Order: sequence, then structure tokens, then C-alpha cells
Amino acid sequence: MVYDCIVLGLGGVGSAALHSAAQRGWNTLGVEQFGAVHDRGSSHGQTRIIRTAYFEHPDYVPLAQRAWEAWDKLQLETGEWLVEKTGLLQVGPPDGEVVQGVLGSAKQHGLPVEILTIAELSERFPIFKPDSTHVGVFEESAGFLRVETCVASLLKLARLAGAQIRANTEVRSYHVDDQGLISIDTNQGRLETERLIVAAGPWTQQVLVELDFHFEVIRKQQQWFQIDRVDAKYENGFPCYLFETDDGCFYGFPELDRLGIKVAEHSGGQVVVDPSKLDRNVNLQDQGRCERFLDRHLNFTKRRLVHNSTCMYTMSPDGHFVIDRHPRYENVVVAGGMSGHGFKFLPIVGQQLVDLLDGKDDPSFRFLQMAGRQC
Ligand SMILES: Cc1cc2nc3c(=O)[nH]c(=O)nc-3n(C[C@H](O)[C@H](O)[C@H](O)COP(=O)(O)OP(=O)(O)OC[C@H]3O[C@@H](n4cnc5c(N)ncnc54)[C@H](O)[C@@H]3O)c2cc1C
Repeated sequence: MVYDCIVLGLGGVGSAALHSAAQRGWNTLGVEQFGAVHDRGSSHGQTRIIRTAYFEHPDYVPLAQRAWEAWDKLQLETGEWLVEKTGLLQVGPPDGEVVQGVLGSAKQHGLPVEILTIAELSERFPIFKPDSTHVGVFEESAGFLRVETCVASLLKLARLAGAQIRANTEVRSYHVDDQGLISIDTNQGRLETERLIVAAGPWTQQVLVELDFHFEVIRKQQQWFQIDRVDAKYENGFPCYLFETDDGCFYGFPELDRLGIKVAEHSGGQVVVDPSKLDRNVNLQDQGRCERFLDRHLNFTKRRLVHNSTCMYTMSPDGHFVIDRHPRYENVVVAGGMSGHGFKFLPIVGQQLVDLLDGKDDPSFRFLQMAGRQC
């Protein structure tokens, strides 16, 4: 049979695209090389920050606003707890990329954020120890997404909308013939489709070899620590946080369960040559960097590492996503190079990929197209 649409890769982006394509009424198949909701790509590790006053670029703000609405709707549809508003405290030098970027986006789009001096910050959140030269910006409406529950819910809703899923099926190559019919070779046989969505995350360059993307896959280690502070617990109002320090950019989440607080480094990381051979052993240097950050910027007397998980960023050269039609085939679309900040946008990225296949152009996504950029 010839499918209306095949989604290649069922991580975060692919799950959202599968849901959107099935909702569009297309006979849709999702193909995933591992199992559904796995921990070998970029979409695992309990939590992801969702925020609107976007320091990376103000053009993301309208997309973030739409994404919030979409997550709220999905949450109602699934009855699962997907998103939680804890607030987000961003700390750094007043003229640094993060603080300047947040304030710039907030000003341009009229978003409510609070600027906190060190004294105000320490009084409101006594658990934090910012540098004396730093300033805080608090976005009360920000929060976190439960990453695995989000992916599982999108897949469940996609199935309910009629999508099929083939797990443990690795795509080896694809070919578009003169009539536009797409043949896909997998380790489980050949598939045919009229439209293809490539959502292969760190494997994007291996799937779309002909496009010669300059993405860099970076290894990221997420760590969970138990610390002796009750105010670090989610139920006691601990916010998500992101610190731009002179030693790198670190972020973290409240303690949700027995694993404790999660902390990770947004900057740095090792280049991954082959995502299928990612080193999952604990990297003591990365762990040490997060421990140093915690010791320097959080108040506690005891900490204990209880868990870690390795993940991957797929960085585009300019740190912005690539969401576009294939330059040669208008029935093939791609979302890649999500550069370590793409999760919050999933539902609207899924819709956009399907809209592109439907011949629609949404100007708010233009800054993420390939034209005029080195991708
Ligand atoms: C540690 C970490 C923290 C992050 N924090 C945030 C955050 O706070 N906020 C935020 O918004 N974003 C965050 N991100 C980014 C966000 O999680 C990613 O942008 C997003 O999850 C990427 O999803 P993806 O679908 O592109 O990739 P993936 O989840 O890796 O999915 C790609 C899928 O394609 C499959 N695949 C690939 N090749 C093939 C093939 N040939 N055949 C079949 N299947 C294939 C893979 O197995 C995989 O399942 C973070 C990322 C990491 C790693």
C-alpha cells in the first residue's frame, strides 16, 4: 500500500508530526528505529523548560505563545499532566546574552518579567547564591514539560487519530521517483508514501545525506542530586532556573520525586561522531562541572548524586531550528537542528511540517527556513 504520509523518527518532533498528520485525515505511518518513547535520542530525561521571553531570538516568542496553547489543549485531551508552571529564574551578568535576550524579547512583545537585584533574589529564593555582579529575571508564567509523558501522549493521540506505528524499524535510504512517489528502504522491508516527514534528530544528516547539513551533535549529561533543602521541592515553590556564569550556562529543575533535583549544562559538551554509538557512561568531568556549579550557586550542606542520563543536542550552525521543505522535493519536509531548545515547540512544529506538505506557508516560521542561512 502507498501511505499518504510517513514520519521518519518518533522522538519529540516525529511524535508531534505523526499526531498532526493523522489529525489531518492522512493515512499515516510512523517509523522508529528503537522502541516507542526510548532514551537513546534527544527526548528523554524527565523534564524540559518551557518559557516565552526567549533570549535566543524574539521571533520565537509568538511560536512559544502558540505552543503554550497547544500544550494546554493536549493536556486536556490526554488527561495527563504534561506541563507545570513553576516560574523560571534566569540569572547572569546584566549585559550577558541571557539577561539581555530575555529583556529584549519581553520588551518587544510586552511580556511580564520581573528584574530582581541580588538582594531581592536572595530574599525571595534563599536557596540560590548568585554572583554579586549578577542580576535575576523572573518569568512567572514559565515552567517545565514532562518529556516522556509528552512523547507518549502525542503517540497515543496519534494512534487514536488513526496513525500506525512501526517500532524497531530502521530507515536505510529513501528515493523519490519522477512522479514524486517516495520509496523507503528499511531493515523490515520497503515502504511507499506520497509524503515524507524527516524527524530524525541527531541522525538527520545520515538520513538526508544529499543535503550536507553542518549540524553538530553534542553529548549532554543530565544529573539528579538529592540535597538537604526542603525548599528545593516542586511543591514548595522551587522554580526552574538558568544561570549564565563565567564557567558556562547551567540550568535545573525542582525536586519532583526521589531522584532529587536535576541539573545540567547547556554550554559545552563533547562532539558525537555517530549518534548510534553515543557513550552513555558517566563522564566525570561533566559531572564535576555540574557539582561545581551547584556548590557555587545553591545553598545546601549535603548533596548526593543519585541518577544520570545521557542525551544529545543537534546544533545548527546558528543555533536556530531548520524547519522547511526539502529543496528538491516539495513532498519531503524536515525539522532538524533543534539546537537544544526545541522541545517546548513540538505541537506547533508538528503542525507546521504538515502545513508545509499541504502547500501552506506561515510567515512566523520563515526565519527557520534554509534560504539565506548556512545550515
Ligand atoms: C539534555 C537536553 C536538555 C534539553 N532541554 C530542553 C529544554 O529545557 N527545553 C526545550 O524546549 N528543549 C530542550 N531540549 C531540546 C529538545 O529536547 C530537543 O530539541 C527535542 O527533543 C529533539 O527532538 P527530535 O525529535 O528532533 O530528536 P529525537 O528525540 O532524537 O528523535 C529522533 C528520532 O528519530 C529516530 N531515527 C533517527 N534515524 C532513524 C532512522 N534511520 N530510522 C528510524 N528512526 C530513526 C531516532 O531513533 C529518534 O527516536 C533539550 C535536549 C537535551 C538533549
